[in-house]
Amino acid sequence: MELLKTEIETIKSRGTSLFLDGKWTQPEGGADLQVVNPHNEEVLLTYKEATPADIEKAVTAARKAFETGPWPKMTPAERGDLLIKMGDELERRLPLLGEAWTGQMGCPIFLSSKASAEVPELFHYYGKMAKEFDFVETRILSNGMEARIAREPAGVVAAVTPWNAPAVLLAYKIAAGLAAGCTIVAKPSPETPVDAWIMAEVAEMVGLPAGVLNILPAGRETGDYLIRHPQIDKVAFTGSTAAGKHIAKTCMDRLARVSLELGGKSAAIVLEDADIGQALQSLVPYSMPITGQVCFSLTRVLVPESRKDEVLDAYTGVIGKLNVGDPFEETTHMGPLSMQRQRDRVEGYIKKGRDEGARLVMGGGRPKNLNSGFYVEPTVFADVDNSMTIAQEEIFGPVVSFIPYKDEDEAVRIANDTTYGLNGAVYAGDKEHGYDVARRIRTGNITVNGLLKSIEAPFGGFKQSGMGREGGPEGLMSYLETKTIYMG
Ligand code: NAD
Repeated sequence: MELLKTEIETIKSRGTSLFLDGKWTQPEGGADLQVVNPHNEEVLLTYKEATPADIEKAVTAARKAFETGPWPKMTPAERGDLLIKMGDELERRLPLLGEAWTGQMGCPIFLSSKASAEVPELFHYYGKMAKEFDFVETRILSNGMEARIAREPAGVVAAVTPWNAPAVLLAYKIAAGLAAGCTIVAKPSPETPVDAWIMAEVAEMVGLPAGVLNILPAGRETGDYLIRHPQIDKVAFTGSTAAGKHIAKTCMDRLARVSLELGGKSAAIVLEDADIGQALQSLVPYSMPITGQVCFSLTRVLVPESRKDEVLDAYTGVIGKLNVGDPFEETTHMGPLSMQRQRDRVEGYIKKGRDEGARLVMGGGRPKNLNSGFYVEPTVFADVDNSMTIAQEEIFGPVVSFIPYKDEDEAVRIANDTTYGLNGAVYAGDKEHGYDVARRIRTGNITVNGLLKSIEAPFGGFKQSGMGREGGPEGLMSYLETKTIYMG
């Protein structure tokens, strides 16, 4: 917590929350917002929210930087060098990034200190890609004509991100967007602004030209003003499906480009021949990671009728031993939910599960030994029918549903019986058979015998889990327009 406290003192002494046109700028009025430690409900920081007037200034600065600043005149390789420098600086701040994640939203420090590494990795990865990517491809057509296919930046981007993995989700957008040559107005979640300010500090330090990256933490009303702005060419959004649908409709009015990383209700299918010991190695950490506040959590566990008790007992045996408590303790496996409204939401779903007849086999309440903080016990329901609310809606908390199936076709049907399609896992003794089952699941990401994820591969959703992909070359393409130039 020491590094975060020092950073908060720096933020306080700077006296402003906005990084705009390359300068720390005073907001135009704006409500008071708070950063709260979810473990003990202590207010860590009060700061001023960005207003629509601030958004106007930021969009104007980003537009100017895109049209006439030094940024469009730089080569992709020069832009890549700046990104790599940002990655180096962020790498030096890894312990701070970990503490910021833990202090603002309760991610256990064992995880935040490791997973924050993706932030500098993304800057290094897309920096290198900017240097190597074929932004202009020459194509000789069948009639001998030459066409040059140029990939050009999409323009001024609004990056809107949630609170659950604040630095990583922002880094995906900033690193890929800048590598493409876009300029960015970022609106991080009001509850977790610190990571975004760290990125602004780093941008300032490496000399990113003014207006290329603007950081304006604010709530959804200011966010709405941003995504409606006619000078925003593309919106890159991560958040709830409800907000994503609204943003998509708004963007379609002016045909602004939009990419959406939304919610999930992912299934883990345990096949008849699965090795349960091996399955638990990923099922335990990824069924309720960060207290279940991760879009790709495996929240529905599909088990064969013949093995349902064995799998449930093995799973609850391990989940029951998790240490729930202060996320800054190295030995803590699960921290609190990130805010009061999250706990209200999760408790509402637990009640619904009981009311609709699911069998509560573990948890369901608040931990007895913790008197403050937004804690909920790890909660497991068994004999869940897939039509129940807890199996259909994204809870975003530590609540897992065990759903029995009769045969493989039924398992596939249940896995696909959801409006979402973000992630999934198939546990199989025969890996190739696991692959065949994985191909039948309508989802953007799935792992055979585990849960893997890499910044080098595309991540995103089928169905109502989103549109477009982040990560890999696909993540860069999402910030590029394609122009064909025929050489007459
Ligand atoms: P949210 O949709 O309420 O808010 C996300 C961000 O959007 C916040 O910055 C918020 O201020 C802003 N926002 C909300 N409405 C807006 C509007 N009308 N116009 C502009 N901005 C608006 O989501 P949340 O509760 O902060 O985050 C949790 C959700 O994010 C979950 O559904 C989770 O699955 C999803 N998520 C998805 C991914 C992914 O990669 N698919 C990753 C992490 C989180």
